[in-house]
Amino acid sequence: MAPDLLLDGATVVTMDGGRTEHAVGHVVIENGRIAAVGAGPAPESLGPRTDLSGCLITPGLVNTHHHLYQWVTRGLAVDDGLFGWLTTLYPIWGRIDADVVGAAAEAGLAWLARTGCTTSTDHHYVFPADGGDVLGAEIEAARRVGLRFMPTRGSMDLGRKDGGLPPDHVVEDIDTILAASAAAVDAHHDPGPDSMLRIGLAPCSPFSVTGELLRQAAALARDKGVRLHTHLAETTDEEQFCRERFGRTPVEYMESLGWLGPDVWLAHGIHFDDDAIKRLAETGTGVAHCPTSNARLGAGIARAVDLRAAGVPVGLGVDGAASNEACSLIEELRHALLFARARGGPLALAVRDALELGTIGGARLLGWDDQIGSLEVGKQADIAVWRLDGLGHADIVDPVAALVLGAAPPLELLLVGGDPVVESDRLVTVDEQDLTHRAVAAHGRLLARAGSVTGQQERNHS
Ligand SMILES: [Zn+2]
Repeated sequence: MAPDLLLDGATVVTMDGGRTEHAVGHVVIENGRIAAVGAGPAPESLGPRTDLSGCLITPGLVNTHHHLYQWVTRGLAVDDGLFGWLTTLYPIWGRIDADVVGAAAEAGLAWLARTGCTTSTDHHYVFPADGGDVLGAEIEAARRVGLRFMPTRGSMDLGRKDGGLPPDHVVEDIDTILAASAAAVDAHHDPGPDSMLRIGLAPCSPFSVTGELLRQAAALARDKGVRLHTHLAETTDEEQFCRERFGRTPVEYMESLGWLGPDVWLAHGIHFDDDAIKRLAETGTGVAHCPTSNARLGAGIARAVDLRAAGVPVGLGVDGAASNEACSLIEELRHALLFARARGGPLALAVRDALELGTIGGARLLGWDDQIGSLEVGKQADIAVWRLDGLGHADIVDPVAALVLGAAPPLELLLVGGDPVVESDRLVTVDEQDLTHRAVAAHGRLLARAGSVTGQQERNHS
């Protein structure tokens, strides 16, 4: 019987355990899964094939940190640091609702697909009381775009009046948060092998949640068998905050609340010291490295190389669009490599290590590496096919170097579970023009709603 799809004649980089590569190879897809991967042309007996000479086939990229709602608040506070940026944006974010989040998430996920991503997480932590079902809106957006999705039910319960960072009207009480988190898992989480949707729990950060919420969220996640995510060590201010308030470093504080372990991944981790890195490695706690966002906010360069060397699982994230207007996952591979070498010298991170961070490394953080992250028989056919025979890449000798060091190449094909999401560098599941209009309209509605705030900003800038 002929396979559903036979990709032939391309370079194949599998990212399997032996890091197998085929200068010219093929991938056979049946029932949404990889049925064969091998060197040379596929056997003639398999019948018709898609000729992909001039292309590179890799696993689809895995995005391990994002805030999709921010797609409609890009380009604000562009010359500010994290705290000034947050203070400008929180009042606007506090006005989001399900309509705005749906439009933002669909645009953001579609753009991730255009940049080679087949699986994304999302850290959503802003739930205005009158905002409707914002988590449901982004789940519907992912279904429409066709990406594998792990949204996390985030939360904030430490508002300004209690010494936290977010405005009081966007924080929820702990009982509401835990009930909504349990309901999100019960309604949406699919742990099965063909799952397109899994849920995680993700209180926002030590600045914006109480220790009690962190403790109870960890207990709930373990009871439900889902993963835990939060921001940690993004700024030196946080180190100071944790030492002053709790007499502990951020990692010691999180450990005291049950927040280290192989089911936890932390965003950023820029300011970990050697002891913290050792503890993360010992406990199998993962780190989502977000080089572009960290640079955009001037927060620093995470010690990704030291984390890897110590054995900490590391993946890549674009982070929210308000701190990374590009939101290009392929660009994160390049930035991870460039920043690692700028910091640690020419041997700090190899081009294939950068690809590993963006594929199987990310899959491990999400606990999904048994199904995605590498091209191996039996795994999901989540596949990126990059066209490297055009002006930008044709004479770069090593296709992996062309992908990581060159400009972002056109995507010839992007498959999720064997289904095409991008063909010939165009989205085929959704209408890009329509998404653009809807995102622009949502941006307009949101800023009009938060009018007094943005009016103030414009006055400050004029
Ligand atoms: Zn973030």
